[in-house]
Amino acid sequence: MLLEVDHVAKHYPAPDGESQISILSDISFKTDSGNSLAIIGPSGSGKSTLLNLIGTLDRPSSGKISLNGTELTKVKQGELAAIRNQQIGFVFQQHHLLPQCTVLENVLLPTLPNPHKETATSRAKKLLNRVGLEDRLHHRPGQLSGGECQRVAVVRALINQPMLVLADEPTGALDASTAERLGELLVDVNKELGTVLIVVTHSSKLAENMHRHYELRNGYLMG
Ligand code: ADP
Ligand code: MG
Repeated sequence: MLLEVDHVAKHYPAPDGESQISILSDISFKTDSGNSLAIIGPSGSGKSTLLNLIGTLDRPSSGKISLNGTELTKVKQGELAAIRNQQIGFVFQQHHLLPQCTVLENVLLPTLPNPHKETATSRAKKLLNRVGLEDRLHHRPGQLSGGECQRVAVVRALINQPMLVLADEPTGALDASTAERLGELLVDVNKELGTVLIVVTHSSKLAENMHRHYELRNGYLMG
């Protein structure tokens, strides 16, 4: 199994400092390479919290998460950044591209810790070509549309060839038809690269494109 989420719970201390607020009660699922998964659920149901736990940006209160046989929940804090950089790609609602950098430079940022510049550049160009941005390599984000920026963000997420791609409402800031095209792109690229794709979305249209669907409700994942 590429990803195993095993009885994960997350709670936060309540403002009174005594009780706990439970966000995720008991979440378990597993998935193998090549699969895509949609997680839907109302605002505040804990979708981003769950994605952040899987992405090692936060730790569960209890339970285990394993990626490719490594139990992430046991990895020391200092070693998580490398795993995140090499094995996990993130796409958020906002693209978070650096405005002063070109498209190509933005895409190459996650590769800076490793020295194979030529390989990375050629991979970047290939991926940018794949998403139809071959004529935009030297543009800056301010010179692109919202949909184009999100496509750059997708390429940036894929540049280190991660096994797992996590997308948190990736089409939330786009108009309907641009959103639909980005959703199709995510699914196609997932198929081509054989990664696991987990997409959190409000959009049932986007969710329909994924292999499996879950709804997060009251701290539980309904299949
Ligand atoms: P969603 O992405 O489904 O809209 P979130 O995962 O962002 O929901 O948030 C779920 C709940 O967890 C919300 O009620 C939010 O207020 C709460 N929450 C998120 N982060 C924290 C935190 N650091 N401390 C306390 N509560 C938090
Ligand atoms: Mg959210």
